[in-house]
Amino acid sequence: MEIDRSIFKNIKDMNSQPLDTSPLIQSAFIEGNSAIVVIEIDPAKAGEAEQMRQSVEATLKEHYTGKDVRAILSASKSAPEFKTNEKKMARPPVRENLKPPQIKQIIAVASGKGGVGKSTIAVNLASALQRSGLRVGLMDADIYGPSIPHAFGLSGHRATMKDGKVVPPVTSEGLALMSIGFLVDATQPMIWRGPMIQSAIRQFLQDVAWPALDILVVDMPPGTGDAQLTMAQKVPMSGAVVVSTPQDLALIDARKGIEMFTQVNVPILGLIENMSGHQCSACGHTDHIFGHGSLQSEAEKYNAPFLGAIPLTLSLRSSMDDARPLDHDCTAFFDTIAQRLKDTLSATDNTEARA
Ligand code: ADP
Repeated sequence: MEIDRSIFKNIKDMNSQPLDTSPLIQSAFIEGNSAIVVIEIDPAKAGEAEQMRQSVEATLKEHYTGKDVRAILSASKSAPEFKTNEKKMARPPVRENLKPPQIKQIIAVASGKGGVGKSTIAVNLASALQRSGLRVGLMDADIYGPSIPHAFGLSGHRATMKDGKVVPPVTSEGLALMSIGFLVDATQPMIWRGPMIQSAIRQFLQDVAWPALDILVVDMPPGTGDAQLTMAQKVPMSGAVVVSTPQDLALIDARKGIEMFTQVNVPILGLIENMSGHQCSACGHTDHIFGHGSLQSEAEKYNAPFLGAIPLTLSLRSSMDDARPLDHDCTAFFDTIAQRLKDTLSATDNTEARA
């Protein structure tokens, strides 16, 4: 749903024009529980733009009480060919190929909303692919809420440089990792991050000394915003894996994600149902707290593979939160999902076609 831009009429844009009619607003929309405004700025004026960004957020808060409000500064020079909230989007060509040649395939792990377990699944899917014998990297593209450093117990880690490139830390299991959390201080103001969405993805792919990889798994930010757009336009991805809980509200957002990727010509490699039932460790009874089976039905509807379901378990919850990401009782589920994903990838390998 579009946001009525007249609420911004008392705010001035970077050219001192009223913001409600400013061409610098790239998009202003409500998605699920979020009210999001994306504003184009000149990166050289990022400091000045912060005041405008704060005014926009304050206005959003006033008008959309209870919503998660976000004003994002984008430093893309070229106007996007489509807006993610429009029904019919032009298919963006892959204009620029940011995929490093030593990486064979790039897959995005996406979700319509936050908190559904996207990062948990990205971490475990990457590990399961690696256990199956592939060389795997994990890139945390969630600029606003990077989870990878904490999950691997690398919260204070600062990336080192070699020959002008950032060296990704490698876990003891052999996963190469990259996250904004390794590059900027967690306390760094957000202003740094808004304009960085596009440039961060570029830097993560081009300025990181990735080793030779069979698959780079990208943990996307939730929703359908700038990062998804940049990835679709500039990275010839093999496709996206969409994670959701079976809950109706999460599904509505997941559908938006599926439709967005489909419209921008990014194949859906599969759907994963997370938090799909909880088995009581004392009595063995299973409760379907968030429902059950909806992702399989969605997969059929979209003619996409259903990769599997992960239960809600205490050990999976604490593994991520306590920085022992692979120490839990769901390993077998992830191994099965990874195998199905590999089968889908080999059946639909169109990386070259999109390169
Ligand atoms: P997202 O990336 O979608 O925001 P996270 O992966 O950060 O979600 O997960 C949100 C919270 O839910 C974390 O505390 C995580 O440990 C927990 N979680 C995710 N999946 C499960 C699961 N299947 N069982 C139990 N806890 C889970």
